[in-house]
Amino acid sequence: MAAGAERIDFVFKVVLIGDAAVGKSQILARFSRNEFSIDSKATIGVEFQTRTVVIDHKSVKAQIWDTAGQERYRAVTSAYYRGAVGAMLVYDITKRQSFDHIPRWLEELRGHADKNIVIMLIGNKSDLEEHRAVPVEDAREFAQREGLFFLETSALQATNVESAFITVLTEIFNIVS
Ligand code: GDP
Ligand code: MG
Repeated sequence: MAAGAERIDFVFKVVLIGDAAVGKSQILARFSRNEFSIDSKATIGVEFQTRTVVIDHKSVKAQIWDTAGQERYRAVTSAYYRGAVGAMLVYDITKRQSFDHIPRWLEELRGHADKNIVIMLIGNKSDLEEHRAVPVEDAREFAQREGLFFLETSALQATNVESAFITVLTEIFNIVS
């Protein structure tokens, strides 16, 4: 094998969706590059980031797509969802509205994506506990009812971001392998 060449056993497309400013891009920056920036701007020209992880001795490349300011309802195009086998459905625990919009995002996702898509509901900004507007129980119940995985994360503190992606990738892996 040539120097630097990596053997990839699987490539999984995962999409990030949810309202603007909930932290999707920072969750992606944390997972793909272990970075975080307070004044994050929409990345222009880059549609996705990748990171390769090892699951059960296989090399799995996660290709994670981020919306570039298309978070208005129904503005995300079907190309974005095409081929996705996983989805991170993100709200901000300090913004009730971002949680109230989750059913719409879920409906849109289910309308566009494969029916076996693995979905993780993510309540981000768990470091802002003093500003919490969404009780963890509300989200847990919703996730249970809809058959979604659920975790609260902090992209800022790097809490549960890794777990969220690894859970989704492992579940996809178990389905396809
Ligand atoms: P996006 O529009 O969903 O991609 O949101 P961004 O990733 O651009 O984040 C929006 C704002 O929230 C930025 O100012 C981020 O620095 C901030 N942010 C993102 N994640 C967190 C987090 O976990 N905790 C806190 N306190 N702020 C965050
Ligand atoms: Mg963004």
